[in-house]
Amino acid sequence: MKGRILIISGFSGTGKGTIVNELLTSSDDYKISISATTRKMRQGEVDGKSYFFVTKEKFESMIANNELLEYACYVGNYYGTPKKYVFDELDKGKNVILEIEVEGALQVKKIYNDAVLLFVLPPSAKELYQRLKNRKTETEEVIKDRLTRSLKEIEYIDKYDLVVVNDDLQQCVSKIKSVVEHNEIITEKEKQEIKNIINKYKEDVKGEKYV
Ligand code: ADP
Ligand code: 5GP
Repeated sequence: MKGRILIISGFSGTGKGTIVNELLTSSDDYKISISATTRKMRQGEVDGKSYFFVTKEKFESMIANNELLEYACYVGNYYGTPKKYVFDELDKGKNVILEIEVEGALQVKKIYNDAVLLFVLPPSAKELYQRLKNRKTETEEVIKDRLTRSLKEIEYIDKYDLVVVNDDLQQCVSKIKSVVEHNEIITEKEKQEIKNIINKYKEDVKGEKYV
């Protein structure tokens, strides 16, 4: 049996990395794709682990040689998913996780309708603000900036197959697995609950009711 592609999107600090780690450690059936990028390496990042850091020329030759499943230009740099790893793992029956931005996610969905597009939401704007503060990787100004930017990202949420609220981590992971592995259907009641959370989130960010 072939595995499935799972694409994870969501605002910074919602817990995407935490969810991915949980999926990878919970089972050998999940693998993470490592992207190629032309952006500069940040402190603490490792080439071949965080990303494959390549030159613009190298990236453009990967495009020309059809080596990428998808790619996008994001804030002045290229980011893309190397095809080979994804296909090899899918053939072995593994589910391959891509943590990529929305433009790339939609490119993949167009070709592979079977891919699951997952959007991770925080329980509330206040909780997201708190998680970003606790993570201590961004300044107050950057945190506020990210929350404002999230209002743009949330406009794409209707294009996603599955929206989960990362409140209880284990419940969240178990929901994702049910959909990826057993095609579980989202009920109307669940959809309505998500809509309410989204509306409240937007109101709170607009009114800065999260500090
Ligand atoms: P992202 O990858 O989306 O930027 P992270 O995985 O780095 O987010 O998570 C942001 C912060 O929130 C981290 O400090 C993480 O430990 C914390 N976190 C993640 N999931 C939960 C959760 N379900 N409950 C409480 N804290 C969480
Ligand atoms: P960062 O520079 O912060 O690591 O990533 C910036 C953005 O690029 C994030 O939204 C991240 O999800 C996205 N991204 C990372 N890898 C890829 C990729 O291979 N393709 C696309 N389309 N986006 C990516």
